[in-house]
Amino acid sequence: MTQTVARAAELRELLERASHDYYVLDRPTLADREYDLLFRELQAIEREHPELRTLDSPTMRVGAEPATSFAKHAHLVPMISLDNAFSDDEVVDWDTRAVKIVSEAVATDGYCTELKIDGAAVSLTYRDGVFVTGATRGNGTVGEDITANLRTIRGIPLRLHGTGHPPVIEIRGEVYFPFDGFEQLNEERAKAGEPVFANPRNSAAGSLRQQDPAITAARPLRFFGYAFAVPGSATLPFRTQWELLDTLVSWGVPVAPHRKRCATLADVHAHAHEVEATTRAALNFGIDGLVVKVNSLALQGELGVVGGRVPRWAIARKFAPDIAETRLLAIEVNVGRTGKINPYAVLEPVEVGGTTVRYATLHNFELITHKDLRVGDVVLLKRAGEVIPQIIGPVPEKRDPANPPARTAFPEVCPSCGEAVRRDEKDIFCENDRCPGRRLEALVHFASRGAMDIDGLSTARIEQLVESGMVHDTADLYQLTAAQIVELERFAAKSAQALVDAIAASKAQPLSRLLFGLGIRHVGAEAAQLLARQFGTLDALAASAVQGPDAIEAVHGIGPIIAASVHDYFTDPHVQRLLDRLTTYGVNTVEPQKAEVSSVFKGLTVVVTGTLPTLSRNEAKELIQSAGGKVTDSVSKATSLVVVGADAGSKLDKARALGTEVIDEAELLRRVGR
Ligand code: NAD
Repeated sequence: MTQTVARAAELRELLERASHDYYVLDRPTLADREYDLLFRELQAIEREHPELRTLDSPTMRVGAEPATSFAKHAHLVPMISLDNAFSDDEVVDWDTRAVKIVSEAVATDGYCTELKIDGAAVSLTYRDGVFVTGATRGNGTVGEDITANLRTIRGIPLRLHGTGHPPVIEIRGEVYFPFDGFEQLNEERAKAGEPVFANPRNSAAGSLRQQDPAITAARPLRFFGYAFAVPGSATLPFRTQWELLDTLVSWGVPVAPHRKRCATLADVHAHAHEVEATTRAALNFGIDGLVVKVNSLALQGELGVVGGRVPRWAIARKFAPDIAETRLLAIEVNVGRTGKINPYAVLEPVEVGGTTVRYATLHNFELITHKDLRVGDVVLLKRAGEVIPQIIGPVPEKRDPANPPARTAFPEVCPSCGEAVRRDEKDIFCENDRCPGRRLEALVHFASRGAMDIDGLSTARIEQLVESGMVHDTADLYQLTAAQIVELERFAAKSAQALVDAIAASKAQPLSRLLFGLGIRHVGAEAAQLLARQFGTLDALAASAVQGPDAIEAVHGIGPIIAASVHDYFTDPHVQRLLDRLTTYGVNTVEPQKAEVSSVFKGLTVVVTGTLPTLSRNEAKELIQSAGGKVTDSVSKATSLVVVGADAGSKLDKARALGTEVIDEAELLRRVGR
């Protein structure tokens, strides 16, 4: 027993300290899963030995005491936490407990499942539809008044739309940090020598508690609503959780996408698995599970709250964490087509976000130095969004002081050709034009879908062609014969001919794709189009470019860096020879003039998502651009229009949540006059 007493005391102290680090300092020192397991251990001890449950036990509390610097705000009704379920079985257990209390089947109105947003809980008070006060959850009863900061968050309506709002209502929800903004913030902090945030949740909480609202305003925080509180006597315009969410939407309050009404627990499990396996990876914000709620608000009322801390009518179905700790075993590099040497991390394999991760991108050398990553360090790894796994930073407490600074692992020579490298502030370059690694990457880029789009010319096949000595540069591709190719391993007469045909077909690509495919430094697909449209032919472009960068910079949308690079490219004698050969072999060097270019999308930012019935993604993109529109990848407030096809996922939900106009392919074609 004395051991149990000691363990309980130890757990209380550990959890208290962790909560302080997490909620007050926004710098967690334990992984969430670790915290949850220790919390459960303490709960189990207290269940067995109720006499050990002290009033200050973390199991009795929500969150942390409000920090002192903000005014206090007393919540109308306490803001509570949620109990966790780590498996389907634990959700079943929760349901069984609930059903025992309310004799009526919980399933009358079913369950409402919502994404469990990994952010910071806040409460927004509206009086007669006007936002008057906003507060953190704090200890659940009293939070911090952060009205000025919350006002800066785009998406929080300062006045509710529509009608039917109770005279006083607190709308509760989560403030979160989108991934793209989070990464940018951490890069900036790393550069400024400030500690990086461990995860978007802590950065959201930290941003909300800034004394200067201008700092909060500068961060791209967002809000999703999911709950409410009203004074006892108020009448409500909704009867279920689902209707509450619909009502919030009608009042202009953002609500998280992918909510689902489930009639049975089997539906709940299926939805949880789908969200964990697929939906989660496509979101631009962090979730750590689903929240399953009894849909009927009347039943919720009957079920009530346990110990002032967690409701009986809801459970957090937690997912496997998408942030994990692992060890950085090595920093390795490869060389890209422009000669830029790209570092990546080799990691001790670790399970994160449902897959085993062995490698992570390191972006550039400057970032490695700023984050002070050292081979041998324990690092925090995040796998989230559609991005490749990223290293957030080292865990300094777990560092072996003998780990050498990363600089000592930076390459002195190119990993492919062995030539000495050149360094600038951020990057390291191989400047050897004949470097085989660079050549290979250049060919891969040339053949890629956005460039010459050569069907069947995969990286593996390019490697084969280069190794056999048949291909040294892009022009060599057009000299290949089926008889030569069939000599290579894994080729038969038919596949060899198919490849030759695909290469020949690429000769007809417009100049813009050729320019992009050539891999001129800084010339992306968009710049290539601008240049091709402006000059019409390769000859005209080359003639202007050799005269100097000014003629190129005169093109609307082209800046001095691209202009200088285009000038350098066309004045290089090797390039001139390459272009001559490409032309001799019959590669098209003309940009087809679009008949009557329409400008219906001028000034509009358009996103294309899902599979369109007839147009490929690239074709749709080109069509929109040719009509003056700008095409971007993610839906935001700046998006004017979303073109959707089949199986459009979160982007469509987001567009709907933002009220962005959505059209289909037929409408797109109609607008551009096709
Ligand atoms: P929680 O994050 O497990 O779940 C409850 C919270 O979920 C609610 O208060 C609400 O803010 C949020 N939420 C998000 N989406 C929601 C939705 N659709 N409906 C309702 N609520 C929604 O609980 P918590 O009390 O905020 O924090 C406890 C958790 O925090 C622990 O389980 C642990 O993982 C973590 N924690 C970690 C440490 C650490 O050291 N790593 C320390 C303290 C707490």
